[in-house]
Amino acid sequence: MTAPPILLSHWPTPLDPAPRLSAALGLRPGDLWVKRDDLTDLGGGNKVRKLEHLVAEAVADDATVLVTSGGAQSNHARMTAAAAARLGLRAVLVLSGAPVAERPGNLALEALLGARVVPAGDVDADGLARRAAEVADELRDAGEVPALLPLGGSSPVGARGYLACAAELAEQAPDAAHVVVAVGSGGTMAGLVAGLGAERVLGVDTGAVPDPVQRVAGLVAALGGPDAPLRLRRDQVGGGYGALTPAGAAVLRTAARTEGLLLDPVYTAKALAGLAAAVRDGEVRPGERTVFVHTGGLPGLFGHPVAAELAAAALGRAT
Ligand SMILES: *Cc1c(COP(=O)(O)O)cnc(C)c1O
Repeated sequence: MTAPPILLSHWPTPLDPAPRLSAALGLRPGDLWVKRDDLTDLGGGNKVRKLEHLVAEAVADDATVLVTSGGAQSNHARMTAAAAARLGLRAVLVLSGAPVAERPGNLALEALLGARVVPAGDVDADGLARRAAEVADELRDAGEVPALLPLGGSSPVGARGYLACAAELAEQAPDAAHVVVAVGSGGTMAGLVAGLGAERVLGVDTGAVPDPVQRVAGLVAALGGPDAPLRLRRDQVGGGYGALTPAGAAVLRTAARTEGLLLDPVYTAKALAGLAAAVRDGEVRPGERTVFVHTGGLPGLFGHPVAAELAAAALGRAT
């Protein structure tokens, strides 16, 4: 049974021209447009579209608490906390890595939103999923009704949210040759591929999961999408998930300085660096209408080491 989505933001998100960034990347000024999925409610970002479907199921199941997992600076965890607050539910966030108060970012917002954070330590994806399931069991034993949401919100139910974004783009940019998007847990790209076709969607892997191609392909199949080869670049991962690459750092500045467009170091900077590489190697050519999907993540900038470097540079202690 499919619960209808619960509205958590205002739709459609805008599609804005980015002529100066377009030219800086080597495209014609009219080629590049930015789909502003950073301009959503719940602090901004792509996870809202997934949460509209995930929380609908949780509410249908009479859940009292949303439990999810992610990295120390997970945007999905922060937006789950906000969705829970909006619906009068509680949120418990099981976070891997090393959440530290010196890197506030999403953690600060999670505290503000009243979520409980459970540090899971240095675990792999399986270990994190196991820990989240244990936490859900503990809550059930305590009389709660937990709804366990997947890492990054990327189940077939969550990925359905990006069918809606694909439908908006089909109206806003019917002639788009390329729709460029960051790939973490894969649901965002999968929804876009299921809605727009595999030929037009260019995913850029950020290193969040070891098997992004299989993940995205599996979700596309679950959504009834095409069984066609995916365009998924894996050349921007660099030092791994969360590690800012030189190319990512360069386009983070370029987007800010050409358009006042603020990206995040973990996802959208790598996605834009992937587009820059695609222009350089001829996969994306001048004259082809290109949509860059801004998936949000700005709060994570303030939980990343680059924030302190930028602040030092602003004070003249250039890095
Ligand atoms: C989670 C996230 C992504 C990746 O989306 P997936 O559906 O997990 O692939 C991209 N950008 C931002 C800012 C995110 O938080």
